[in-house]
Amino acid sequence: MYRDTRYSGSKLEIGTAEWKRISEAFDKHLEKSPPTVSRGMNSKDKDRLSVPSTSAGKKPEHRSLSKTNESETDSEESDVSGSDMEDTSWISWFCNLRGNEFFCEVDDEYIQDDFNLCGLSHQVPYYDYALDLILDVESSHGDTFTEEQNELVESAAEMLYGLIHVRYILTSRGMSSMLEKFKNYDFGRCPRVYCSGQPCLPVAQSDIPRSSTVKVYCPKCEDIYYPRSKYHGNIDGAYFGTTFPHLFLMTYGHLKPQKPSQRYVPRVFGYKIHRP
Ligand SMILES: [Zn+2]
Repeated sequence: MYRDTRYSGSKLEIGTAEWKRISEAFDKHLEKSPPTVSRGMNSKDKDRLSVPSTSAGKKPEHRSLSKTNESETDSEESDVSGSDMEDTSWISWFCNLRGNEFFCEVDDEYIQDDFNLCGLSHQVPYYDYALDLILDVESSHGDTFTEEQNELVESAAEMLYGLIHVRYILTSRGMSSMLEKFKNYDFGRCPRVYCSGQPCLPVAQSDIPRSSTVKVYCPKCEDIYYPRSKYHGNIDGAYFGTTFPHLFLMTYGHLKPQKPSQRYVPRVFGYKIHRP
C-alpha cells in the first residue's frame, strides 16, 4: 500500500520490507508484553528508528518539553511524573511542536466519529493504539509497552493524525481553524517580490502518503514553493492534500487576491533583453 518512494535525507526513508520487519517486531513484543514505561513518550532513540514520521528532529524537543525533569529518573517514576504532560492533550502538544505550525487542532468530536476515519485503519499500523494516543485514552497495553513499541505507536499516531487532518481541513470547522492560521501568517508568505508578502496556504502535490513533502501555495501568483523552514520540509504533503487551498479560497472568496500587476523584467545595462 505504501509506495516505496523516499524522501532524500529525511527520516521518512523506509522501505516496505523495513516497515514489515518493524511491524513483525512489534507484534512479537506485543505477545511478550514485558513490563516497562507508560505511553510512548520516553524513548531516547526515536530518530534511529526509521518509522515514517513527520517530526524528524522534533523528538528531543518533545522530551525537553515534557520530560526535562524526568530524563534522569528511571522509567518507573516517569509514570507518575508524566502528569505535567497530561494537562495538555496529545493533539495540542503535537500541533505546538516546532515544525508542526501548519497543522490545526482537529476536534476530538471529529476524531471520535468513526465515519470520519473510514478506511484509515488499513493505512496506519497499530491503528487502535495510535488512535488511543491521539485521543489521550489510556490504552490497556500502555503500561506494558517497551520503548520501541511506544515509538512505533507514536509514529503511527503522527501518521494517523495527519491522515485525519487532511480530511478535517476540508470541513467547515477545519477550514475555519485554518482561516485563523492563515490570518496569523502561520503558513508563511510568498517569497516572490511582486506578491508583496501575500500569505500562503499549505498544499500537496499528491494525495498519496509519502510521495512528496508539503509545499506552500500563493493565491496571488498561483504558484507553489518550498516552505521556508527546514522543519516544514519534512512534513508529508498528504497531511494537507491537493484540494485544501483551492477549496479554502472558494469558501472564503473575499480572501482571493487580485493577480499581481507587476512582473519582473530582466535587464542588461538597463535595457530589456531582446528575445527573438
Ligand atoms: Zn506569490
